[in-house]
Formats: sequence, structure tokens, C-alpha cells
Amino acid sequence: MTSATQGAAQGFIELGLSDTILKGIDFAGFDKPRPIQVQTIPAAVEGRDVLGLAQTGTGKTAAFALPILERLREHRKMHPRALIIAPTRELATQIAEQTRALARHTGLKVITIFGGVSQRMQTSALRRHPDVIVGCPGRLYDLYEQGFLHLDQVETLVLDEADHMFDMGFLPTIRRILKQLPNNRQNLLFSATMPLDIRGLASEILHDPHQVELTIRQPAQTIDHALIAVSEDRKRDLLDRVLRREDCHSAIVFCRTKHRARRLADQLWKNGHKAIALQGNMSQNARDRAMRGFREGKFRVLVATDIVARGIDVQGVSYVLNFDVPMTSEAYTHRIGRTGRSELAGKALTFLTQADKRWLKATQKMLGREIRRHKEKGFDSGYNERNAPQERVSGAFGKKAQGKQGPPKKRRGPEPGRKRDSRRGGARGSVRGSAHDPANSASKKGGGARRDGRR
Ligand code: ADP
Ligand code: MG
Repeated sequence: MTSATQGAAQGFIELGLSDTILKGIDFAGFDKPRPIQVQTIPAAVEGRDVLGLAQTGTGKTAAFALPILERLREHRKMHPRALIIAPTRELATQIAEQTRALARHTGLKVITIFGGVSQRMQTSALRRHPDVIVGCPGRLYDLYEQGFLHLDQVETLVLDEADHMFDMGFLPTIRRILKQLPNNRQNLLFSATMPLDIRGLASEILHDPHQVELTIRQPAQTIDHALIAVSEDRKRDLLDRVLRREDCHSAIVFCRTKHRARRLADQLWKNGHKAIALQGNMSQNARDRAMRGFREGKFRVLVATDIVARGIDVQGVSYVLNFDVPMTSEAYTHRIGRTGRSELAGKALTFLTQADKRWLKATQKMLGREIRRHKEKGFDSGYNERNAPQERVSGAFGKKAQGKQGPPKKRRGPEPGRKRDSRRGGARGSVRGSAHDPANSASKKGGGARRDGRR
């Protein structure tokens, strides 16, 4: 047994990983392999396609990064051999950092390619023969078209947040990139959500995949999530109050639009909270500063749009606060999944107004259960309980709330939430608009950018 395998990485040996990779695992500080890693790594190391679905924060990044490194470490080529595509620059950066840590002893080069920053650094990085590329679709395709990026030696393709990559904002570019890749490549698709009607698109890409699906219907058990009914004009006071809770060490606050995120961050700052905005109208420099500042604890509150809803892993986020409800039910799962990560506990509270009834209905339907209701003691929520959006509530908090809600109301009109949350309907465009990064598609400032303009 070598020094690396004597460490915490022991459980990884059985997954078919060699000593060089085990040293990287030790360096990354991993203890034992997580369930999604146990169940996907061996098949991926063998070269099979994989569809890996597991809850947020359960270690999907290493589940695709480790087998890639294992397969690439043997010999190197002139051009990139693995391509990892992610929806946002922040996520691409994070994946690259984790992959680099795991690749520490392999000599493999990992670089990032995304929009919003000068392409010169990226083209010179490409000239230095990187092995793994992590990037966002727009800039990747731009650099391919300009002849800087060679895709003909790619052996493994990863779509992280795979269902999101099939949203309309990304799909056309993804398809163009796929056309340039060798047919006999390996495909690895990972996400915490996979709406039924998107599975078809996934199976178009995958060949005889090894499929693993770990309880994705429910958010991770580590997340204690609840709703607070509140009127629009009382949201800010409620937020201020929650942020002052003793157990709220750091929080991500999600807003519906870029403008609301910016304004709310300013207001919080004036009220003495160390808050910073992160939204798509900011320069990439400012986005990096915000993300880094939040990771390092310089800021305690990150007020963001759905840019950070997917994949972002920041340790010690104790609360996720949905100041505005997300556009879709899937987005709910991803947003609250920014806390309760890596087997640690976290809390999520969603501020719910009268206008959010349809969203609630659709989301509870997707989850297959009602979301717990919380009432903030001694706080005037301004919410008219008589028109409460939920008729029946379960659980300890629920019973309490139920008593105050009066008799169940009869439903009027068409099935709420149906259209909106239908993956073929408007919401698909909307949620995609949220995290889709218009600046990624430097050459296509059309649809994507305009769609995103709403945020
Ligand atoms: P997901 O993609 O499933 O949301 P991530 O890959 O971002 O989750 O992992 C969540 C956190 O768990 C990260 O901080 C990562 O470093 C950590 N992690 C992943 N695998 C392990 C492991 N085997 N042991 C310890 N920590 C791990
Ligand atoms: Mg992830």
C-alpha cells in the first residue's frame, strides 16, 4: 500500500482509480467516496456513457472529473481530450479548480474558456496544449469557429447541469459543438434534476448509458426548507430580520431580476449587512470580486439572480433565502441546494406572496409533498391569511398555520402552474434566461441576451 492509499482515499481504490489520482483525492481532502461517486466512477473509468442524477451537493463534480483524469493520465495528445460544459462562468471556474486539485499529481492541464473576459489569455492557454477544457457554450463555439479550439480529439464530453444545458438558451450552441466532436466519444451527463421531457434529449446524446438516479425528487435531507407567507412590501423587513438570526452566518438571497438584486444588495449594505450583488449586468471582474469576496467571508450575504442557482459550492452557506420565488420548480431545488451541501446542514426560506400561488402548486406537485410553512414570531407579515395560497399543510409548522388559514378555498380557473411550469411552456425559456449568460455568446447577442435582459 502506498502513502496515498493509506490516507483518507482508501475507499476510492476499489473504484478503479490509480495511485496518482488517489494522491489528488487525498490533496482535495476527500474522506470516502460519496454514493454517486461509488455508483458512476467504475463505469466511467471503463469508458461507458453515464447519466448521473443525484441531489445537490453530493459530489457529482468529482464523479465525472476523477474518471476523466484516470483515463487521460496515461498518454497526452496535442489537442484537448476532455470537454466539460457548464452553464455559468462561475460554475466553470469552480469545476476547473476542483479538477485541477484532483489532477495535482497527474501533470494534466485544465483550462477555462468563457465569455465576458478577453479571449487573448484563453487562446494562448489553448496553444499550450491543455488536456481538459471547462467552459460555457458561447465562447467555446466562438473559439472553435475562429480555429483556436480543436475538438477533433475530444474523447470525453461532460454536460454538467445537463437538463439546463438542454434549455433553449443553450441548446442550439450545444448542438453545434456536439457536431464537431468525434462520434465515438464518451458522454457523461450529470444533474440534480431531469424533467421528463428533457430526458429524450439526453438519450439522443447517450449511447447505452450506465444510469444512476439517486432520490432526485426530493431536495437533500440536509436542507431544512420552508415557506414564509409575506406581502411584497414587508419582504425587506422580513429579510433584515432573518439575516440577523444567530444561526445565519452567511446567506445567498435570490431575486427575480438583476435590477432587484442590485438594489436589494445596496439597501442591505445601508442597513449594516455585508452584502454584495452578483448578477449578469456586472462586468466579469465585478462578478469575480463578488464571488471571491463571498467565498472568503468578506461578504456575508450574496444577493443574486439565478446565475448562482446551479452548481455553485460555497462552504458554510447557512441560509438560502428566496426573496422572490424562482421561475420554475426545478430552479427551487437548485437554489435551495446552495446550502446543506456535502453532508452539512443548511436552511432555506422562501418568501411567498399572494402572487406565487401557481408556482407553489406546481412545485409541491413536483416534490410530491407540501413544503413546510414557517411563521416568524412577532412579525407582521402583512399577508392576508384568508387568501392563503395553501389549503392543507402538514408537519408541525403546518398544523399551526392551518388553524389560521380558515376553510379550504375552492379552486378557480384552469389548473394553476401547469402551463407555467411545463417544460415546454414559457417557464423553460424563463429559467434558462436566468442563468444563461449572454456574454458567453459573444457572437450571438440576439435571443439569449434579450431573454436574459429580464433578469
Ligand atoms: P454536486 O455537484 O453534486 O452539487 P459538488 O461536486 O459540488 O456537488 O460537491 C459538493 C462538495 O462536496 C464539494 O465541496 C466537494 O469538494 C465535496 N466532496 C465531493 N466529494 C467528496 C468526498 N468524497 N469526500 C469529501 N468531500 C467531497
Ligand atoms: Mg455540481
